[in-house]
Amino acid sequence: MSKRIDACDQTHDPVLSSWVESSVGHGAFPIQNLPMGVFSEDGRTRIAVAIGDELVDLRAAADAGFLAQLPERAQQAARATTLNDWMALPASARTQLRAIVSDLLSASSEAGHGARAARASLLRQQEKVEMLLPAEVGDYTDFYAGIHHAMNCGMIFRPEQPLQPNYKHLPVAYHGRASTLRPSGTPVRRPRSQVRDESAHEPRPRLQHTSRLDYEMELALWIGPGNDLAQSIDIRDAAGHVAGYGLLNDWSARDIQAWESLPLGPFQGKNFMTSLSPWVVTSDAMVPFRSPRMPRDAQDPRPLAYLHDDEDESRGGIDIALRVYLLTRAMREQGAEACLLSEGRSTALWWTPAQMVTHHTVGGCNLRPGDLLGTGTISMAQGKDCGCLLEMTEGGRRPIHLPNGEVRAFLEDGDEVVMRGECRRDGFVSIGFGECRGTVVG
Ligand code: MN
Repeated sequence: MSKRIDACDQTHDPVLSSWVESSVGHGAFPIQNLPMGVFSEDGRTRIAVAIGDELVDLRAAADAGFLAQLPERAQQAARATTLNDWMALPASARTQLRAIVSDLLSASSEAGHGARAARASLLRQQEKVEMLLPAEVGDYTDFYAGIHHAMNCGMIFRPEQPLQPNYKHLPVAYHGRASTLRPSGTPVRRPRSQVRDESAHEPRPRLQHTSRLDYEMELALWIGPGNDLAQSIDIRDAAGHVAGYGLLNDWSARDIQAWESLPLGPFQGKNFMTSLSPWVVTSDAMVPFRSPRMPRDAQDPRPLAYLHDDEDESRGGIDIALRVYLLTRAMREQGAEACLLSEGRSTALWWTPAQMVTHHTVGGCNLRPGDLLGTGTISMAQGKDCGCLLEMTEGGRRPIHLPNGEVRAFLEDGDEVVMRGECRRDGFVSIGFGECRGTVVG
């Protein structure tokens, strides 16, 4: 039922351009991208495809008959108010929808003057609408697949054994909280819970607001078709179960996390909010930006057979350049630009999306369309390019100096964290993920 990682088609052609002028040379949303999202306008919620600074209202496109070649189920999905039905479609139907929208927006498509006016009426300015969460998320699971993050955090907490013995055998994860997922732009409230300051030798913990609030730069994997309870997804089919990708900020309260996490893992330190970029960059759009999975050394263990597939090994990885920026209240008041905190690359994920999906279901756990997987924080091997402040400041011991003279160990009220992602490859048009933003409020 699912397809393997596909080859490029005419929708990836670098010579393709759109009659939507804002999309020509657009850094994030040229016609080769066509990410899916959900927007609200005048109290009505509809799904859309981004093109340049605009978007195509897919419900209006379906009502106007532009999607008539699609199977009935796919036309229904285009009229929905979340992307769950679109995610549930077989990969081939999602690919077909992409081809039709690409043709609708293409400058070279066979459309007369009247047809062009009808097409233009489907467009909305992105800045004039509100973007919502892409899907109703039934379940959210957060992995720990960024190996440099796992190593750096391990060095802070357990220098004698930074990586747990299971790390290179299975994709480690915990089950997160779906109710606190929010779209980019939602302010994050500084959470409170129990904190115990071990350095002060306090006999008892205290209930207080976190003083060690952090972000985590992660990728979101949006699950497409699901699996039935007690049925697992074979590694060779797993790529077809990922509908698309986004940016995810796993806000973390390090002092709360440190006291509560043993033995069962993060709880209040992570569950107060998680931010998501609103546009889902589809698996189809990502085809040119697949990469080999992260290389192993000779002494690294071979994964068990259920996690191994030759195609996944050669092109099951994804190559996205990730950047994290910080805009403090003082910078905002000074009229300064956000400053770059770090640059990362998703090729630093030890496990591929297919391996995460396969391991998640190997015991019979059913995934559902619109479920969300976080990859875990993505950091680079050396230097300061880490995906969270905990690593960049070595647990708060080495605060970072910002260009305007401010210093940060952890986030302060008024700080806005901005995450961006971009894919580049010679011979292809670059595509972007848009932004995942959030401002800390006290
Ligand atoms: Mn995380």
